[in-house]
Amino acid sequence: MYQQEHLMAAAAAAGKHKVLVIDDQPINLRSVYQTLGSEYEVLMATGGEAGIAACRQHRPDLVLLDLVMPGIGGIEVAQRLKADPATAAIPLIFVTASTDSEQESACWEAGAVDFVTKPFNPMTLRRRVQVHLALKLQADLLQRMAYIDGLTEIPNRRYFNERITAEAARAQREGAALVLMLADVDFFKRYNDHYGHQAGDACLRQVAGALQRSLHRPNDFVARYGGEEFALLAPGAGCVSAQALADTLCSAVRALALPHAASEVAPCVTVSIGIVCVEDAERFDVDSLLRRADEQLYRAKAAGRDRACIASA
Ligand code: GH3
Ligand code: MG
Ligand code: MG
Repeated sequence: MYQQEHLMAAAAAAGKHKVLVIDDQPINLRSVYQTLGSEYEVLMATGGEAGIAACRQHRPDLVLLDLVMPGIGGIEVAQRLKADPATAAIPLIFVTASTDSEQESACWEAGAVDFVTKPFNPMTLRRRVQVHLALKLQADLLQRMAYIDGLTEIPNRRYFNERITAEAARAQREGAALVLMLADVDFFKRYNDHYGHQAGDACLRQVAGALQRSLHRPNDFVARYGGEEFALLAPGAGCVSAQALADTLCSAVRALALPHAASEVAPCVTVSIGIVCVEDAERFDVDSLLRRADEQLYRAKAAGRDRACIASA
């Protein structure tokens, strides 16, 4: 319980949690607002489609969902939110007047974490919301600890491995393009030798930040692959945009202007990048993709560093 309160307090300090209420009756929306409005940021949607859209846009921490609504009903809303990776982890609580046992089972099967009957006891609703939010925060925290690199605070290699497996499968299933890059800091051993390991760590944090800030599409991400090596995945990107993106990444690292007196290629910290790009449902497996990106990284190093090389088809 201590941990739960601690988490809630920490999160409250960072801003109010968002609770989305989806209900076609304004009077119901109002009573939920009266119950939760002082503790949470309460967002409201008066129908299923609007609710799904609000979920995607605002990423609430929890959703309260009515069962019977004109248009699409609560069960379908729940199924669609669970089917979308972007919204699947948001806990759903059904708030409904239904006493039908089959309907209630359908709610659980659609992915509900809880069920509150209308008219509700305000304290019961408040407590249920509190409990499920605390569980959600704990799950988020664990996820974060498992998937975020402690030094750079970007995703780690475990996260990358899981995502590349999923994205490679998806690219093949949908015949979509996929771009993988490996970026490696140039002469980083000398950087450590010259400036010290602490400065080396600070440098890695800066490089990670520059790479991450250069990505703008929602599914692109960069992870710390190991030591001073970063791996980047851009699902759906073609070869031309991949080369342009890699050039942007090289420039972004150079623009940090971190002095590197021991580098042979520039007075500042630079990276070399190997790119592999698959288009049109080409057959590939993850290991060969990584091997090809590594070959290109080696080429970039051999060609003088501070540049990106791409595998030609
Ligand atoms: P190249 O341009 O060919 O990539 O040369 P390099 O010196 O960057 O490559 P090398 O693989 O020889 O050296 C990598 C160095 O990165 C060695 C290691 O001490 C350092 N390193 C790896 N992880 C960390 C880290 O977490 N912090 C710091 N400060 N240094 C690290
Ligand atoms: Mg290396
Ligand atoms: Mg290196």
